[in-house]
Amino acid sequence: MRFISTRSEGGEFFSASDAILKGLAPDGGLFIPENIPSIPDTFTLTKGSWYALYQAMLPYFEGDELEGDLEEICRNAFNFPIPFHSENGKDTLELYFGPTAAFKDFGARFLAFSMEKLLSRRNEEITILVATSGDTGGAVASAFHSRRNLSVKVLFPKGRVAERQRMQLTGWDGNVSSYEVDGSFDDCQRMVKEAFMDPELKGLSSANSINLGRLLPQMAYYVYASSVYKLKYGEDAVFVIPSGNVGNATGAYWAKAMGAPIKRIVLAVNANKPITDYLESGEYRPRASVKTLANAMDVGAPSNIERLFSMFPDIDTFRENVSAYSVSDDEIKRTIKEVYDESGYVICPHTACGERVRRDHVQEEHSVVVSTAHPAKFNDIVEPLIGRELAIPRTLFDIMHKKPVSTEIEADYHLLFS
Ligand SMILES: *Cc1c(COP(=O)(O)O)cnc(C)c1O
Repeated sequence: MRFISTRSEGGEFFSASDAILKGLAPDGGLFIPENIPSIPDTFTLTKGSWYALYQAMLPYFEGDELEGDLEEICRNAFNFPIPFHSENGKDTLELYFGPTAAFKDFGARFLAFSMEKLLSRRNEEITILVATSGDTGGAVASAFHSRRNLSVKVLFPKGRVAERQRMQLTGWDGNVSSYEVDGSFDDCQRMVKEAFMDPELKGLSSANSINLGRLLPQMAYYVYASSVYKLKYGEDAVFVIPSGNVGNATGAYWAKAMGAPIKRIVLAVNANKPITDYLESGEYRPRASVKTLANAMDVGAPSNIERLFSMFPDIDTFRENVSAYSVSDDEIKRTIKEVYDESGYVICPHTACGERVRRDHVQEEHSVVVSTAHPAKFNDIVEPLIGRELAIPRTLFDIMHKKPVSTEIEADYHLLFS
């Protein structure tokens, strides 16, 4: 199994392990499989969800140095359930039972366990730098905490992250250090970029959402979930996916291309809508992001779009395969309230985008909205709408009761290494 860059015209090939350690291809493109493989005949739902995810990922590691470790990595990384919530034939896939209560735990944990394996075998060490405006940093810190041969430096803008997010960024010790930067999120990102370009600094890497190691688990849970759905309804699944950088949705398209029983994939975006605009106009224009209630989807230039373009290179093919709808903040609020009033079910602002799109644009009798985060992570938005307090999931509770440790620094990357 070989991987290529979205920008290469054939030429350089990489193994899955190389792609995971490199993050970005040397030409600045994203790693994609040379050919998308089929689901193996050994795929089964009878041995638990983590085993199904392992089977779905196995072909991507054929002949790779991690092939023999993959089963153990998946058992460790995916040690939480992936339940469906059903309401009158409408399903919601709850991807938020990992340690930081969002779907990013799947990718971050797989990446951490894979890197740990590769580095200890090579006797190398890596420092992961992450600039975060909220969610990603917490998932990465949690996943990489206590992993050997790895350390993490998390940078976030002082006074500009939510209190619960801050707790998830600072409740660590050991190999995770947290820096409160006197500046904006853009300053944090600039510091990371400058550090990567400094030839004096060696052994730095990133864990952002374009890493192949984060994408493959997201493909795998769609193979699993569509197979469960097929058993339940005897039909191919329709997925509605709340999207920002479109990494989650790219996973679904790869799963469909592998032969998973998926009928179609619908993207739900917030007021950041380069993709819906592209579908309308045929011209792709990335732009600056605008702030919304579904803040993990506040992306004006989706980083994984190159992978979708490599699958659907022209506007006609793109339109045949991708549909997308934009949801406003008012609609997000209305949907959270509507769903709660109807059934008592509580959803987060991102999931609400998906639910709104299902209600307004999906005609099929059955469908699955992908729930990307636990609503209690966004209690300040959700609780006033439903008029009650939300219980905090156990894993979040644990992190929130650790002692916060962080270092305040000026916006100068040298200070990260002094
Ligand atoms: C990251 C995130 C998204 C967006 O996922 P992409 O892969 O960037 O499209 C949606 N919801 C939540 C809660 C997230 O954390």
